[in-house]
Amino acid sequence: MNVYDTARMRDILAPLGYVSVDTPDGADLVVLNTCHIREKAAEKVFSDLGRLRPYKQAKVDAGDGMIIAVAGCVGQAEGDHLRQRMPIVDIVLGPQTYHRLPEMVTKILRESGQNLFLSDTDFPVEDKFDQLPMPTEDGPSAFLAIQEGCDRFCTYCVVPYTRGAEYARPALDVLKEARHLIANGARELTLLGQNVNAWAGAAPDGGDWTFARLLRELADLPGLDQLRYTTSHPKDVSDDLIAAHRDIPALVPFLHLPIQAGSDRTLKAMNRGHTADEYMRTVDKFMAARPDLKLSSDFIVGFPGESDADFQATVDLAKDVGFIQTFSFKYSPRPGTPAATMPHQVDEAVKSERLTHLQESLMATQQAFNADCVGMEMPILFERPGRFDGQVVGRSPYMQPVFVEAPATALGQILRVKVIGLGGNSLHGALIDAPNQQDVA
Ligand code: SAH
Ligand code: SF4
Repeated sequence: MNVYDTARMRDILAPLGYVSVDTPDGADLVVLNTCHIREKAAEKVFSDLGRLRPYKQAKVDAGDGMIIAVAGCVGQAEGDHLRQRMPIVDIVLGPQTYHRLPEMVTKILRESGQNLFLSDTDFPVEDKFDQLPMPTEDGPSAFLAIQEGCDRFCTYCVVPYTRGAEYARPALDVLKEARHLIANGARELTLLGQNVNAWAGAAPDGGDWTFARLLRELADLPGLDQLRYTTSHPKDVSDDLIAAHRDIPALVPFLHLPIQAGSDRTLKAMNRGHTADEYMRTVDKFMAARPDLKLSSDFIVGFPGESDADFQATVDLAKDVGFIQTFSFKYSPRPGTPAATMPHQVDEAVKSERLTHLQESLMATQQAFNADCVGMEMPILFERPGRFDGQVVGRSPYMQPVFVEAPATALGQILRVKVIGLGGNSLHGALIDAPNQQDVA
């Protein structure tokens, strides 16, 4: 989502004459788009700001200036405190106000020399998406934000506070942006939302569509070959959505469905709203609908009160499901969330030990799956040239990087590949289809 938001900020600043550069050295404007989900991510902002100080000073010494803006969830959470702690910050804004960035930048430029500080962390009534221009991306794979915010209030999580309440973009807007992205070369769309499968939106026919209906409509768009979405919540998985996975070939057989923990006690304390068994039954339904489906997941270890037995339940559940990709984290107490003040916080050393143990087990499953892929045929989306002449790199439906000897004309296309070998965390393949010459722009 932050990658998507950063691209939108770049697009909305373009009419003011701003273009992206690779280094802050000499930049007129630096926007840090930040994450507040764990303490480490949030703290990174302050070290990055520290690193920017000499660059800003150099610009000021040269009689010029550098506007520094902090956007994203740290901006939202810290607000005006950011300026007190870091006086080099000129602008603070949140995830729902970044469409106002051009206005704020213009104001600062107009008042230059006044040492103006602007902050805007509202949850505005106007629709941010209405103010944003159409995306300018032209790659074969594109993000499309369809939903924002979260009403689930997991007890460890800041998202409901920083991104705000759930909001679904109207179906017509989503379809319009999808058509635009496809016209610009996208073969694959990844629908984004903090709780993406909670999407339910106003439909062009005046009614309401479910998320599954939206998927069906998007899959019918000419030129679109692959459809993904992330992140979904197990509680918002409907039978309708499972049927969509059975019926829609464009939906990749890969789904990110965070479980967080395998013990019912921990899941309850986290306020996830389901048990381990309910999660397993949802997985079974998905597998029955789409037998080649594989799952990825998120895990938190060391949640307050987590015992050795609770932790073991997480390891066991992960093995049972056989997740082929995972993101696992030590629980990080976040200010203002209920879990931060729960009793029986787990020792840092125990958290570290559990994380290492879990990650070893998860990695073994992931590598076993990679090995199973050798000999399979898969559609590969080619995204970038490889390091060697005549090599291109693509992505499998399961998000594995795949290295293939193929002409550069393969870039931007989805072609059938036979997996012939394993890399460190990647696959080697051989082309089955020849690249389509006409597809090359
Ligand atoms: N909406 C998604 C995830 C959003 S945050 C969902 O419900 O699954 C991405 C991941 O960060 C979460 O799945 C969780 O594993 C992790 N996370 C969130 N808050 C955390 C915290 N306080 N400490 C550690 N990990 C956290
Ligand atoms: Fe956070 Fe996801 Fe829970 Fe929402 S559902 S509170 S985003 S972890």
